[in-house]
Amino acid sequence: MAAAALAAKLAGLPIAITLVESDEIGTVGVGEATLPHIRAFNLALGIDEAEMMRATEATYKLGIEFCDWGRRGDRYIHPFGDFGPTTNDVPFYQYWLKLRQSGDRSRIDEYSYPVIAAEQGRFRRPSGDLDAVESTFGYAYQFDAGLYAKFLRSFAEKRGVSRTEGRVVRVVQDGETGFVRDVVLTNGTTISADLFIDCSGFRGLLIETALQSGYDDWSAWLPCNRAIAVPTQSNGALRPFTRATARTAGWQWRIPLQHRVGNGHVYCSSFISDDEAHDQLVAGLDAPMQAEPRRLSFTTGRRREFWKKNVVAIGLAGGFLEPLESTSINLIQDGITELLAVFPDKGFGARDIAEYNRRIGLHYERIRDFLLLHYVATQRDDSEMWRHFRNLRLPDSLSERIDAWRTRGHLIQYEFGLFLSPSWVAVFLGQNLVPDRHDPRVESMSIDALTARASDVRAKVDAAVRRTPEHTAFIRESGGAARLAVAGA
Ligand SMILES: Cc1cc2nc3c(=O)[nH]c(=O)nc-3n(C[C@H](O)[C@H](O)[C@H](O)COP(=O)(O)OP(=O)(O)OC[C@H]3O[C@@H](n4cnc5c(N)ncnc54)[C@H](O)[C@@H]3O)c2cc1C
Repeated sequence: MAAAALAAKLAGLPIAITLVESDEIGTVGVGEATLPHIRAFNLALGIDEAEMMRATEATYKLGIEFCDWGRRGDRYIHPFGDFGPTTNDVPFYQYWLKLRQSGDRSRIDEYSYPVIAAEQGRFRRPSGDLDAVESTFGYAYQFDAGLYAKFLRSFAEKRGVSRTEGRVVRVVQDGETGFVRDVVLTNGTTISADLFIDCSGFRGLLIETALQSGYDDWSAWLPCNRAIAVPTQSNGALRPFTRATARTAGWQWRIPLQHRVGNGHVYCSSFISDDEAHDQLVAGLDAPMQAEPRRLSFTTGRRREFWKKNVVAIGLAGGFLEPLESTSINLIQDGITELLAVFPDKGFGARDIAEYNRRIGLHYERIRDFLLLHYVATQRDDSEMWRHFRNLRLPDSLSERIDAWRTRGHLIQYEFGLFLSPSWVAVFLGQNLVPDRHDPRVESMSIDALTARASDVRAKVDAAVRRTPEHTAFIRESGGAARLAVAGA
């Protein structure tokens, strides 16, 4: 992603980009669910959606279904879109709270087009007509991240990036400044540069091994530290959403692609053995495995300095939270966008570097808080892990948010929050954290007027979903189908 974006955005400058990758080491090999922002990335590079979808076996994604998080048996969808229309500057969920207090039992989901479309397995792109219900959402992709990387590699090579196969075995720093000067490959090839982007994954070859940036370990808040991933065969219609099912010591993902379903169990090794985690994963699969399960270990947290001297760490080299809300590829995109915004000259201005580190640090913190919310906004206490979260001291930024929400459904606005208010509403309400009171401004609408309005919104959502094509059919019709190994395909 970095090589492709820099090649496209720095075209015309006297800059040469070399991409070093090692087939021997390979990539982490997981990462299938994305966020809507990736569309802006692809668009900025002029990538054709249908071509990208065919190349990566992609499906569309309208949100994430969370099962068993608030209580066992619960389910809700965190959609890429809002719930109902804002009226008099007051968000719809506030009116819904009033309705609920007056005895109405409609689900907040019934006011969300992407939730109902996802539940019914339907998809279309958002309408350009801003008055239409079909315009009230965003969408992302579920794709094979390895194939996406290949696709972007070829995109980058066509724009002049030279790709070198080989393993970096030595990093040479300037004796005086400590700046990285060269990297040396196994075969002795030396690659010199002014700027190095460390995309070496968890190992952080330049940022940590060479420059010792340091790592803020966030395991106290996000203790999951292992994952087992396994693909299964597609079985049935492709769902336009990712599923995350809470387990006793972590959670399990299910991500439908065109040619397979990606599955994995993310768990905390203090609360479950690897063998038990494996057995839970297998027991939760809904189709035969296509390969041996792969095991991964990680420590949640972030590099203290993402950019140090002339090295910028992007991707897993910069840090890792956990994949519960599909945020890693988005953090790569943020790293690239922020880097382009303060792209350095050879002077490497300290103020720009500090600003970059501050901004990316905030991106990580906001995501950490949002992920942690899923574990603490819960009534579960049926295992050691869930009891651990009951007694956890939260970051102040999250405690304040939860308190403001509880009192009257107020959402404190973050600077640089990736997840906007509707996402927080989805998780709070989806996990049964209903505010004690609602915004007093909703009293301007009588309960009869409100009931009529709510029923009208529900009817519009229903009608719009009925007009929406089935997801698999839409992929085919829009030219995005690769092989579609789906029953009935
Ligand atoms: C369990 C799990 C699930 C995930 N799910 C999602 C998800 O659903 N959505 C999402 O957005 N993200 C997800 N991620 C994160 C996602 O996988 C990564 O963000 C993404 O794959 C990018 O990784 P990377 O390129 O930073 O690192 P890697 O994939 O590890 O790539 C590192 C690269 O550096 C090269 N390299 C390393 N060392 C050397 C060396 N010495 N010499 C030469 N080359 C070297 C490797 O060959 C490789 O090309 C998940 C991660 C995990 C662990």
